[in-house]
Amino acid sequence: MAIEMLAKPAGAWCPECKPGRGCQSYENRPAECRSFNCLWLIDQRFGPHWKPNKSKLVLTTSQDGIEIRCDPGFPDAWRREPIRSEITRLAVSGEEHDVTVLVIIGAKMMLVAPDREFDLGVVGPHQRIVRELEGKRVIGATVVTASDLDERM
Ligand code: SF4
Repeated sequence: MAIEMLAKPAGAWCPECKPGRGCQSYENRPAECRSFNCLWLIDQRFGPHWKPNKSKLVLTTSQDGIEIRCDPGFPDAWRREPIRSEITRLAVSGEEHDVTVLVIIGAKMMLVAPDREFDLGVVGPHQRIVRELEGKRVIGATVVTASDLDERM
């Protein structure tokens, strides 16, 4: 994830991170890092197989729903069972409650619906995902620029 205070873009190593040893400035880490909560730690729905170092996935929330961040070195990690079936169940529940389930692999994003996946390709920081709904059912998804979206609203 991007860390604004460190000018760290998404997908890049943090200069404070020493692989295998962790954060070298943990006591003085930025507020963005302090306020971050990995969903796996705080949401009991996700069992031990979701632990990031095993699953190669990090779970976070956004304004719209759940984000499943996949290690780009293991781009199919989210398709392994039982995780893939659990993601489908999240999508079923998400559709009912207007919550999105997004898989993020590097800069690429995939919106997961109960019965299909919408491959959105690379989605930039100034772009937004717009879902097309039929009732509660997601039948399409497109990527638009944030400014275009603001004009439509
Ligand atoms: S916790 Fe430390 S290593 Fe991790 S992003 Fe923040 S400053 Fe970097």
